[in-house]
Amino acid sequence: MGPMKAVKVRLYVEHPLGAGQSVPLSRAQAHYLFGVMRLGVGDAVAVFNGQDGAWRAEIVEAGKKAGVLQCVSASAPQRDPPDLWLMFAPIKKARTDFIVEKAAEMGAARIVPVQTAFTNAERIRRDRLQAHAVEATEQCGGTFVPEVAEIARLDRMLDAWPDGRHLMFCDEMLAGAAQGLPKLPGPWAILIGPEGGFSEAERARLRGMGHAVSLGPRILRADTAAVAALTLWQTTLGDWGSA
Ligand code: SAM
Repeated sequence: MGPMKAVKVRLYVEHPLGAGQSVPLSRAQAHYLFGVMRLGVGDAVAVFNGQDGAWRAEIVEAGKKAGVLQCVSASAPQRDPPDLWLMFAPIKKARTDFIVEKAAEMGAARIVPVQTAFTNAERIRRDRLQAHAVEATEQCGGTFVPEVAEIARLDRMLDAWPDGRHLMFCDEMLAGAAQGLPKLPGPWAILIGPEGGFSEAERARLRGMGHAVSLGPRILRADTAAVAALTLWQTTLGDWGSA
């Protein structure tokens, strides 16, 4: 065997990974690796599938529309994020894409678009948002891809709220108040509202069910608020402190 080649590409695959395991490529993946990235037989890529950690793999077959990788050695263990959902009311397309991308990078375990009283969004394409989450995970070196759920009505989600899951209700009415995040262990969900904020009825219900939290003295746009809330949660309760 010659010297190890540098790995230029990280690829998410929907296939089991393990020593010696062959991984067939989809047409789109073959096009990306061989057509766009100009890789060929013998080149190395990093692969992960959301369950089996990251693996160094070698290209063993390269065609125009197909190809095969072979796993060589494990390069990183599987690392799952804390049990944190990011719930947000979708906004304009580019900003919704941004929220999904950042949630994947910041370590949300599940991303849930919610329809609130004042949600005013273009139609949501779940598959497209899921592809953004995959791409963000490929870029950031993660091994876990958060699931993007179908859009759900907030009131129905609250009706069926899971026992024991704490709710971090980011309440714009608390801008400037000293209302921090309580250090309670267990599963959590963050909730970010739409451009129009929450209705009075939603606020009353959410304050009764969750922990209303301030994100500082300024009113943040929803995409900024999502990143700020994830930062606050990860530093207070999440995985930023652990290696
Ligand atoms: N239209 C609302 C208003 O003028 O009060 C602003 C809504 S804000 C653009 C969108 C969402 O970000 C809010 O519903 C809330 O979840 C979150 N947010 C923004 N700034 C916040 C703050 N300072 N504290 C808590 N949540 C905030």
